Amino acid sequence: MSITLGAVADDFTGATDLANNLVRAGMRCVQLIGVPGGSINIGDADAVVVALKSRTRPVDQAVEESLASIDWLIKQGACQVFFKYCSTFDSTDEGNIGPVADALLKRIGSDQTVMVPAFPANGRTVYQGHLFVMDRLLNESGMQNHPLTPMKDPDLVRVLGRQTPHSVGLVAHSLISQGGDAVRRHLASQAEAGVRHVICDTLDESDLDVLAEAVVEHPLVTGGSGLGQALPEQYRRRGWLAEVAEPGRLSPPTGSALVLSGSCSRATLRQVSCFLEHYPGFALDPLSLAERAGHLEAALDFARQELAQGGPVLVYASADPERVQAAQAALGVAQAGELVEQALGRLAKQLVDEGVGRLVVAGGESSGAVVSALGIRQLRIGGQIDPGVPWTQAPREGKAPLSLALKSGNFGGEDFFTRAFSVLDELAGGERP
Ligand code: ADP
Repeated sequence: MSITLGAVADDFTGATDLANNLVRAGMRCVQLIGVPGGSINIGDADAVVVALKSRTRPVDQAVEESLASIDWLIKQGACQVFFKYCSTFDSTDEGNIGPVADALLKRIGSDQTVMVPAFPANGRTVYQGHLFVMDRLLNESGMQNHPLTPMKDPDLVRVLGRQTPHSVGLVAHSLISQGGDAVRRHLASQAEAGVRHVICDTLDESDLDVLAEAVVEHPLVTGGSGLGQALPEQYRRRGWLAEVAEPGRLSPPTGSALVLSGSCSRATLRQVSCFLEHYPGFALDPLSLAERAGHLEAALDFARQELAQGGPVLVYASADPERVQAAQAALGVAQAGELVEQALGRLAKQLVDEGVGRLVVAGGESSGAVVSALGIRQLRIGGQIDPGVPWTQAPREGKAPLSLALKSGNFGGEDFFTRAFSVLDELAGGERP
């Protein structure tokens, strides 16, 4: 079976964000981790999103991995290819948005693509090519201080102009308000004039609908997950996508329920306290992890005992800023983080081997560590627990799939850890077997 949309995302949580929006807009979606290779069974998926870690990789590597991914996606029959990056256009003067888009265009044999980073639902809008985060220009939004991709210029035409030798144009909002046909004509005339990349203004979701209508037949589109929410309706109108009643439906979950948290973000700290008011938890301490192997063993024993009682149980390194700073002062920032991530990875591997089948992980890096410890390469995307966080299922050889919810730090309501498990039961159609 052929897929309709093939996407390549420049980081893991960005991929999940896009996949989540595609499911919400009616597509059955699988997320693959790393460049796909060999035989992968994607089942009845309408869309596949490949999650790379190419945002901050050297340009050549980012280009190579992105090309290998779209080659594979095109082999799966993708009608359209989507290059997904962050809604704050995270990049540097070297790239990687410009060079990757140029390479993808060349490989696909097309001479133009649009750039639609906006995600109005999250306060990311673009006007006259300038990116806003809520009511601030990008360069005053805090993103100017990002450690890896500081965004010091809000004018995306200029920003992209430094990343590509080709000319960069603009679809201004005044044109979008004239509708999809006007935008399509403008893009065609720009393409004739040799304009290879076109930054698109977007103030709200109706602008995304107009843009989606104008670009649905472009072989390559680029942008944030907002555009992903608008495209499926256009695919349906063209008969490229069947109507599916429950695109986020998952298999019945099995096994016990565990939460692992390595996030110290404010929202996670509240979720940890909320969980501990009702269920048991074990606090992992990086200093104790550094001093004695017994600390990890104690966490394992605690979790085993509580899981045997029916769970759910939480193991968390999440701590307030003072405790985090104390651990970092004693061990170094990298070493403290590494110890926690390794411990979470080992706990996940061991406890999943012993029967955990429903796992919530809090923290972007922490999720990465757990997914790689579990050797997961593929996730079927289910319905959403809270904005931006879907349940997913990883297929397993000869076993029921592992249900996983990967939450980046600041996402989710206070009762996320407990509510997640009841949402999972609903998504799989009621009671667990
Ligand atoms: P978020 O999504 O909230 O940023 P991440 O998992 O991406 O969460 O990052 C949190 C980082 O903090 C991880 O590297 C984790 O290992 C580290 N960490 C977690 N708990 C502690 C702690 N108590 N002391 C020091 N570092 C910690």
